[in-house]
Amino acid sequence: MARALITGGAGFIGSHLAEKLLDRGDEVYIIDDLSTGSINNIAHLKANPKFHYVIDIMSHEPVLAELVDLSDTVYHLAAAVGVFLVVESPVYTIENTVRGTELVLKWANKKKKKVLITSTSEVYGKSTRIPFNEADDLVIGPSSMGRWSYACSKLLDEFLALAHHREHNLPVVVARLFNTVGPRQSGRYGMVIPRFVSQALNGQPLTVFGTGQQSRCFTYVGDTVNALVGLMDHPETAGQLYNVGNPEEITIETLARRIITRTNSKSEIRYVPYSEAYSEGFEDMSRRVPDIAKVQQAIGYQPTVGLDEILDRVIAFIRQEQLTGTHP
Ligand code: UDP
Repeated sequence: MARALITGGAGFIGSHLAEKLLDRGDEVYIIDDLSTGSINNIAHLKANPKFHYVIDIMSHEPVLAELVDLSDTVYHLAAAVGVFLVVESPVYTIENTVRGTELVLKWANKKKKKVLITSTSEVYGKSTRIPFNEADDLVIGPSSMGRWSYACSKLLDEFLALAHHREHNLPVVVARLFNTVGPRQSGRYGMVIPRFVSQALNGQPLTVFGTGQQSRCFTYVGDTVNALVGLMDHPETAGQLYNVGNPEEITIETLARRIITRTNSKSEIRYVPYSEAYSEGFEDMSRRVPDIAKVQQAIGYQPTVGLDEILDRVIAFIRQEQLTGTHP
């Protein structure tokens, strides 16, 4: 029987991952400090005798050590999330991101447990070489801009993970996640799709930041989770780094219009300058498209849920939350 530890298991992606592993019969342990995750995300899993949750901080080392010891594999998802949080709290972002990864790698290394480190497409920074390939150079903005602290912290996580593989022969794989969306994602920390859907359902203007000509590629959380499990299960992924995403691209302005149409909303679009939305001098990424050839080749990964279907699922979820009074 397989036993997996998920750090950040009460988060949006972590809770979907826990669900998937439980569905196939694995024993699942999670640790989460509920800083951005929520107990509501795992409420439906608590009755499962194979699900074990610990609400604690990652830096409580004896707890983390015990959980790593109990598990065969470790999915490390705990991290600061959302551009709002990163811009407001860069110290927390940097310290928390790097420290958590350092500790996971340290304890996993003692027993050589396979680790999956989640990184982010944010590390490609301002690169204009589309689509982004794992072997590309990275173009990060200046350290005077708080936003880039997240990319740099995650990049340090990647270096540290790959260094553990090289130096200590630790089986570790890195997944660079592109914008992942789906039910249970919170709009509180930035995330454009839950924000636009809530705004559209409430008849409020959709807040398009900048000109709206910047684009993103959105991946359904179920596809992301399938890739994570595939990468963990495959023995030959150790020591490697993979993009995980869906190359279907859309501008933010078109996304806003699409959400208005699909919700039958009367909302209008309000264009908000970046300086007002985030902070003075904020730099956005204009395009972010994954090259997914490497992960396709390694584990046969293929995104299965297109954007319209993703939007319909998020709309249905937020409508339901509003009906039951659980929408934050
Ligand atoms: N965005 C927007 N309005 C919002 C929230 C986000 O126009 O209310 C934009 C944001 O500036 C970015 C894109 O949507 O260009 C995706 O933002 P998100 O925070 O979801 O993820 P990011 O790709 O920036 O990490």
